[in-house]
Amino acid sequence: MIYLDHSATTPTDPRVVETMLPYFTTVFGNASSAHRIGHQAQSAIEQARETIAGVLNCQPHEIIFTSGGSESDNLAVRGVAWTQRKRGKHLVTTAIEHGAVGKTITQLADTQGFECSILPIDSTGKVSLHEVSNALRLDTTLLSVMYANNEIGTIQPIPQLADLAHERGVIFHTDAVQAAGQLSLDVQKLGVDLMSLSAHKFYGPKGIGALYIRDGIEIAPAQTGGGHERGLRAGTHATPLIVGFAKALELAYQELETRNAHFQTLRDALIKGVLNTIPGAVLTGHPHDRLPSHASFVIEEIHGSFLISYLDEKGIAASGASACKAGSQAPSSVLLALGYSPELASASLRLTVGTHTTQRDIEETIRTLAIAVKNLQRVAVA
Ligand SMILES: *Cc1c(COP(=O)(O)O)cnc(C)c1O
Repeated sequence: MIYLDHSATTPTDPRVVETMLPYFTTVFGNASSAHRIGHQAQSAIEQARETIAGVLNCQPHEIIFTSGGSESDNLAVRGVAWTQRKRGKHLVTTAIEHGAVGKTITQLADTQGFECSILPIDSTGKVSLHEVSNALRLDTTLLSVMYANNEIGTIQPIPQLADLAHERGVIFHTDAVQAAGQLSLDVQKLGVDLMSLSAHKFYGPKGIGALYIRDGIEIAPAQTGGGHERGLRAGTHATPLIVGFAKALELAYQELETRNAHFQTLRDALIKGVLNTIPGAVLTGHPHDRLPSHASFVIEEIHGSFLISYLDEKGIAASGASACKAGSQAPSSVLLALGYSPELASASLRLTVGTHTTQRDIEETIRTLAIAVKNLQRVAVA
């Protein structure tokens, strides 16, 4: 099988699995317990937190472990909205956020008396600093803009957005789930107040994530119970997953340059190959301000879900828009926001490369794709 769906998830690196194993069996203690085996788990967690803090250039206590990117996004948005509600109830975000941010904000607006502004993006997927500046009001408490988009790979100008928010006394959150493992996560350079991460997008285990919360930013807990994670996220620590998260992040940033060079070479070969051989194919997202691993297209007269099934039968794992929307026939809201027609927004193909992808995988994918598109476009015409 040729796996080209790394934006949906990645395989766990065997070195990460190796690091995790003792924490399932020998060091199985509850990190909150007052005995040696509990303390051992606790110290492994604090070691992991320090490793992650090193990559983020922050203090360890500014990192809260969660079950993944979705929970981190929910915690950030709900946590700020609730804590700041006396000061204001206006939230600002973009039209292309992951549902964990977008739906959380619209739900707060629909049911809890919040107001939201959902900013348009241009045809490359970038937000306009001017539009953001106009949208921020005296009663705005949160600006949430993702670092890099999961469907089109476009990277946003995070430091500039953070500056704009701070000039107006607004808290800035970014969903960095897609960016992690490819772009800098230095929270001082980025200037973010809150940042969401998820380990399974960078060769770590599924079901573990983190929210960076800058010192001084108060947020309300979304999950209550025991006093875990500074009272912000109750629940027994998932020690093996936390240890795996830290190992995966550490490896990703130790190997960042080699990995990115590899991704970029393959991504560029993929983009060039598809645009040269597939009639009616258009690159979506930004031509160069995009994730090194990310190629995405719309293809005229194709239904995305037929193409994905066809490729799957030929042993190629690709994706239409994003994994979360697989199986749905609705056009991608991200592609609609970019200005594509509903027909083209249903004709999307996302190919995301990984550490094990080879040049031969790319060549074979382009060959198979050319045949698939020819067959499917013929069906569409007939
Ligand atoms: C995958 C993803 C999420 C969700 O993360 P999970 O850990 O799967 O809950 C959130 N935001 C973006 C941009 C993603 O790509």
